[in-house]
Amino acid sequence: MSTIKGSVSVNGHTSALEELATSTAHLTKVWPTPSQQLGERPLVWVNGSLLPKSQAMISVYDHGLLYGDGVFEGIRVYRRKIFKLKQHMERLYECARKIRMEIPISIEDMINVQRLCIEANNLDDGYIRLVVSRGAGTLGLDPRRCPVPGVICIADQISLYGKSFYENGMRVIVAKRPKPAREALDPRIKSLNYLNNIMAKCEAIDQGCDEAIMLSTDGFVTECTGDNIFIIKDGVVYTPPNSTGNSGSLEGITQRFVRDELIPMCGMKCVVKDMRIEEVLAADEVFLTGTAAEMIAVNQIDIDGKGHKLSDGEGPLTNKLRHKFRAIVTSDPIPED
Ligand code: PMP
Repeated sequence: MSTIKGSVSVNGHTSALEELATSTAHLTKVWPTPSQQLGERPLVWVNGSLLPKSQAMISVYDHGLLYGDGVFEGIRVYRRKIFKLKQHMERLYECARKIRMEIPISIEDMINVQRLCIEANNLDDGYIRLVVSRGAGTLGLDPRRCPVPGVICIADQISLYGKSFYENGMRVIVAKRPKPAREALDPRIKSLNYLNNIMAKCEAIDQGCDEAIMLSTDGFVTECTGDNIFIIKDGVVYTPPNSTGNSGSLEGITQRFVRDELIPMCGMKCVVKDMRIEEVLAADEVFLTGTAAEMIAVNQIDIDGKGHKLSDGEGPLTNKLRHKFRAIVTSDPIPED
């Protein structure tokens, strides 16, 4: 009888098994141990348990891992309040519904889990990642073989772009690879499968920057790999639609906040409309919004390897909006609606 890693006992063909185990033993050194790589903090909530980061694990049979089958949310915590909590919950449960997945806990419980993670990790300002995966099942796509969806809540920090980009703006590219057609994959579903966005981001990284504007298969401006996009022309702000017209993008909660609340608060007007990339290149100012990114200006757009300079730094109206944004999220009360 041979024992592999102390827990699995196998009868028969002992010597062949031992030989194979010995010949593959060195492979363990390829990976750092979870405690070396991850450490203990934050405490992470996984399927009902609050665990040290290095022990927070899910099954290798989880379809979230095997197929990217699941949905997620990224949420900001400002001064211990969960920014736009209600809207994030609505989007999460709606996305789950769209992929025919029933989240096994109520919205109220989901909110309490987040508050627990904030308290357990003493998080004043940070970021919450909620993941709802299809859950452990069999090897095969069939979601009916996954009896209970998994729920993960991570309350931690996030920083997408360098600090100086927030003051000076950042250079982005226009990705060659389009977003999948809206009919193929509803871009409003915030799914665990971000490969299209990751490959567009790799295009950006290959060209020495951090973000890419993604076009629809018909060449309309949609969004970036992790942010929505706005342009300003002659004092008016424009952003593409999410699911009407020719575009298609995530219904960004920051986009909605900026479009429907922040811009009017600053005495400006925001128009939702389809745009071609030429309009973006001809804009006075361009900025991106997202939960992780918050608000960030774009100062240059590269298309087909050719740079189009928009400005030397952050434009004045973007600056005004960004300061108002900061004022709201650092003041009392932080909106949880
Ligand atoms: N588009 C994509 C593709 C994203 O991943 C994100 C980030 N969640 C956004 C837009 C911005 O959405 P939100 O403001 O809700 O974070």
